[in-house]
Amino acid sequence: MSLISVEIKEDENKCKGLFFRGKINSYYIEGKKIVQAFEINLLKKMSCKGCDQCYGFWDYYNTCGTEDIDITEIKHGKIYSPKFIADIHDWETNIVDEWHYELEEILENKS
Ligand SMILES: [Zn+2]
Repeated sequence: MSLISVEIKEDENKCKGLFFRGKINSYYIEGKKIVQAFEINLLKKMSCKGCDQCYGFWDYYNTCGTEDIDITEIKHGKIYSPKFIADIHDWETNIVDEWHYELEEILENKS
């Protein structure tokens, strides 16, 4: 019998989550319209490089479209992270059947 030692580096397997910077663009075209556009931009350095969990978020967005995630409550310049919210569990298997995401504001450490 041989023993193989496998070193598991915890940080590499742990999802850091996804982080976005909120941005509100406002402009107007005189005599015609006033526009306020909300956007959240992925902060690549801060975010997970990609895992099943994060992929789930993008997949959810691909499937549900933009209607299910409201970003009109964001504030310009703030950082947000999507939080997984389980809505309905299968009563037999306890596997999550329905879920959604909510944006959570992240307090920035300015030191
Ligand atoms: Zn991840």
